[in-house]
Amino acid sequence: MMRRVCVFCGSNLGDRTEYAEAARAMGRALVDRDLELVYGGGRIGLMGVLADTVLDNGGRATGGIPKALEAREVAHGGLSELRVVSTMHERKAMMEQLSDAFIAMPGGLGTFEEILEILTWAQLGIHPKPSGLLNVAGYFDPLMEVLHQAADRGFMPPQSLDNLYLGTEPLELLDACENHSAG
Ligand code: AMP
Repeated sequence: MMRRVCVFCGSNLGDRTEYAEAARAMGRALVDRDLELVYGGGRIGLMGVLADTVLDNGGRATGGIPKALEAREVAHGGLSELRVVSTMHERKAMMEQLSDAFIAMPGGLGTFEEILEILTWAQLGIHPKPSGLLNVAGYFDPLMEVLHQAADRGFMPPQSLDNLYLGTEPLELLDACENHSAG
């Protein structure tokens, strides 16, 4: 059974209101399914919108933030739990260990790096957990194209994408991850 879901998303709001709307929808969906949010611990961009929505709806949000980022005062002050760690690597390992599934929403380098590392760890057998991409306004279409190309050109087993779900509805994605974990 899934208890905690890690969401990677932008520390910016992006160029369309749909992204923040999707972050609110994801926050409500997590609370709806009684799932705790694990995320980067920031109060800015989509990260902040997501965490605020979870907390405003009575859910739990745990953040993991490296000391250096906390010092820049970008950490969210009102979280259920804020774990301050030494390095970005330690933070990611902690987020992986705490979480039963991983969702990426629109974001930049940090978001791409985080979800790709989680997929790499799954490919290496470090964890068996599912991942999902919330494809707001087709944001992840080019990434899916790149991933399929990597498989087509022999640089990645196609099965490495078996535990990756793509969807436009937060509830649908959470249910796909839940079914994956159960099956
Ligand atoms: P980006 O997509 O480049 O905006 O980076 C967002 C991702 O990187 C999030 O999922 C966070 O885990 C991490 N991150 C980047 N900036 C921050 C920040 N200011 N505070 C906390 N986490 C951050």
